[in-house]
Amino acid sequence: MITFNELNLSDDLMRSIDKLGYENPTLIQEKSIPSILEGKDLMGESATGSGKTLAFGCGVIERVIPKKGLQALILTPTRELAEQVRTEIDNLANNKKLKIISIYGGVSINPQFAALKKADVVIATPGRFLDHLERRTVDTSKINLIVLDEADRMLDMGFIDDIEKILSVCPKQRQTLFFSATFANRIEELVRKHSVDPVKVLAKKQVDPEKMKQFYYDIPKNLKMSLLIHLLKNESSDLVMVFCNTRKSTDLVVKNLRANKIDAIAIHGGFTQNKRSQAMDTFKIGKAGVLVCTDVAARGIHVEHISHIYNYEVPADPTDYVHRIGRTARAGEIGQAINLICEYDHENFSRIFREFDFEITKIERPYIERVELILPPRRPQRKGFRGRRR
Ligand code: AMP
Repeated sequence: MITFNELNLSDDLMRSIDKLGYENPTLIQEKSIPSILEGKDLMGESATGSGKTLAFGCGVIERVIPKKGLQALILTPTRELAEQVRTEIDNLANNKKLKIISIYGGVSINPQFAALKKADVVIATPGRFLDHLERRTVDTSKINLIVLDEADRMLDMGFIDDIEKILSVCPKQRQTLFFSATFANRIEELVRKHSVDPVKVLAKKQVDPEKMKQFYYDIPKNLKMSLLIHLLKNESSDLVMVFCNTRKSTDLVVKNLRANKIDAIAIHGGFTQNKRSQAMDTFKIGKAGVLVCTDVAARGIHVEHISHIYNYEVPADPTDYVHRIGRTARAGEIGQAINLICEYDHENFSRIFREFDFEITKIERPYIERVELILPPRRPQRKGFRGRRR
């Protein structure tokens, strides 16, 4: 293991890192920071929680000069991640007077016009940034560093065309950094198309089977909610996340947990930014013990002391499963992932076994009291939408 001192960071940056209390670089930081500082293009394989934000954050801080126009653009899949990245880069920039802003949809566009004029660094979701490009309210001519954070997720969310358009209008003379949990072919293709001789860095976070226990219950569909309620009431836990595949089932689960006197709160892509931030704050300070959420809404969010992850439904993409369970057993703590498997989960569940070498132990179903299912009011569906909403 190396120390931050060996990474040739500026004194200012070293002071910021010191202030944040980080003692040693993480694997992705150790492996990527030298190439990032040399100005090389890079693709970094790294999961949430690996410390990738600080890795590219160092590049941003060392490169950008205050008041010289927009020089660094960081694209993230969600508003929450954009906010989180902005906070972290703000903390790193502590001693340097940089104007760092985040730009995303779901909030009024008007205040963003003025903010963009003064910004040195922008963290944005692709849709809203493209909106600004089309309105000509952002000047991309000085951009010399672009980061695609959680590139795999951005592609999953259908941002590929937006990303292509954004990259194509930015100056060719620039450094481009791609961070992604996996390097599927489509990511490699994107990297090939938009970078020059990229350095490839592998630093995937491993699931430690000593710290992280994975279980599953086989349960008929009509008893799933009853089992979840039983487990939440009977397992002693710290903070708990319950993952669902769609907004609809997130609404269903949170409503039924509350009806059964479990302090639960929900976030999914259908909530306003304000409501999502409020819910996250309530959860982080421990005011609600259970967060019910979709993958999209929870992506990239870092909350400490999560002891249990429940998969009310198994995700279709095995990488989402890894992201979900990676929320627990952090920083030496122990954690459990518990899967509630009914008929419709079998296909997704077997996909996880095909992709990863996980040990997931079956637990026999305990005696459970059957609860009466309460259905939430129907949300209006947007016309013409056919896919699952998350
Ligand atoms: P990220 O993968 O960028 O989302 O980072 C995950 C978390 O790790 C963030 O909350 C950082 O504050 C924290 N972190 C980043 N680098 C380090 C480090 N070298 N040592 C300890 N914690 C770190």
